[in-house]
Order: sequence, then structure tokens, then C-alpha cells
Amino acid sequence: MDAIAAAQVLSEIGYLLRQDPKEVYRARAFSAAAWALALERPDLDALHKANKLTAIEGVGAGIAKVLAGLVEDGRSSYLERLRSESGQPARDDESVIDLAAYQGDLHSHTDWSDGRTTMLEMARAAKALGYKYLGVTDHSPRIKVVNGLDAERLLAQSREREQVEKEVEGLALLQGIEVDILEDGALDLPDAVLELLDVVVASPHVKLRQEAASMTERMLRAVSNPNVDIVGHPTGRRPGSREGASYDFEAVFREAARPSSHTCRWQRGWPAGRASRWTGS
Ligand SMILES: [Zn+2]
Ligand SMILES: [Zn+2]
Repeated sequence: MDAIAAAQVLSEIGYLLRQDPKEVYRARAFSAAAWALALERPDLDALHKANKLTAIEGVGAGIAKVLAGLVEDGRSSYLERLRSESGQPARDDESVIDLAAYQGDLHSHTDWSDGRTTMLEMARAAKALGYKYLGVTDHSPRIKVVNGLDAERLLAQSREREQVEKEVEGLALLQGIEVDILEDGALDLPDAVLELLDVVVASPHVKLRQEAASMTERMLRAVSNPNVDIVGHPTGRRPGSREGASYDFEAVFREAARPSSHTCRWQRGWPAGRASRWTGS
């Protein structure tokens, strides 16, 4: 069993455990171990043979047992049990996911807002995963508890982006924002700022229990802003702890998918023409 396939299994176990608030720590442990496997790509067969699976970062006895099962029979009975208990449909499409074709992420956080690592560490990890690009999308200013970025801090961040990109060769580092969708559907940063960014993710974070009709209006207004490239977590739900927004998803997704004269900046053939406009270079 190769490390990436095993990482996918651990990651799904982490996801399913997260549905249960009592399992939050175990869920985190599985997710962290999945990341360690994806980054380090250890030789699982060899480690299992040597009885050393716990030498992998973040892998304790419990997770090692799951990995041993995977190595021995290519499947995890623990995952199968969680799947049937959760009532979630099996991810029957996983066999067609080709991670080698996966080129990057467009939504990530750094310690500029509520991420735990620096932009440099994120970029290095992205490179280690074989990514061609990484979108850095920290929070916008209204989300004060996580130190959201205003235009001034975005400018400072763009300087760091330039530095990091020089240090991590072969990775296009896109500067973006996860801009908060305000109660009335306006965005938490002016268009003049959003225009300068490589990727704009717009997400609802507060007042998710707004009544459906006004929530629909709010989301429609947000996604029709031509600077928005991606809608982040459209419901805002947290499995097991917070119910998400409900609104006319059909109408909002239809509006979001409507072709507009605007093309996403990250589709316009970066790295040339990316948001180096911040610094005038
Ligand atoms: Zn986010
Ligand atoms: Zn978010």
C-alpha cells in the first residue's frame, strides 16, 4: 500500500470521526497522521515488516494498527465500520482520484491570520507535495478574533510572498484572501483591493442562521461580485457542532457558475501577470 493511498484512508477516518464531538481529539490525530504520511511518503510495507509503523510522526499504537491492516489486506475494517455507522455514502469515486494530477490548493491559511505556520513553511510543504501552486487566502479584517488582514497588512504580506517565492523554487505562490460575506452580501474588503489579488475566496462566517430568503439574497449578491473566484464553505456548517446556513443553493450556484467577461486571475496564465502590482514590479 503506498503512503498516499494510506493517507487518504486516514484522512477519511479523521473526517468521519469529526462528525462526533466526543471524538474531536482522535479525529485530529488521524488527520495529522494523514498529513505526515502524505508529506513524508514512508515505505509502509518495510516499516510494517520491521514492526516500526509507530516511527512515523504522529502515528501511535491505534493508528499503527489501522496502517498494519491496510498493508496486510489493503482495506481498513475500522473505516468500513465508521462509514456504515455514519450513514455517509461510501466515496465510490476515490479510485478515480489521481493525486498525481493534483496541482495545488487555492484556499489556505498562514500565521498572518489563524493558520499555525508561516507562509514559508506552507510553501515548502506545498512543494513537498508536488504542488505547482498554492493560494494563500487568510481572513479579511472583520474576523477580528483571527487577526484578519486589511489592505495595509495585505500589502505587507505581498512583500513576504515575493520573498518566499524566491526561496521556494518552482512553486507559484498566489496571493489571495478569504473575504467575509457580510450580512447584506457586501464583501469585507473594497473592490479596489480585491481586484489586486490573485484569488478571492468569499465565505459566510457569521449570521449563518439568517432566514432562507434573505440568506439567498446575501449569497447571490456576494457571488455576483466579479472579483469573487470561489465560494468558501457555502453552508458554514461544522459537522457535529454547528448547523449551517440553508438557502436556495440552486439559484446561488447557478449565479456563481454564470460565465462573465471576467476570468479568474489565477486562470489567466500566471506566474506572468500575477499580483506583483502590489509592489509595482
Ligand atoms: Zn479558510
Ligand atoms: Zn472560512
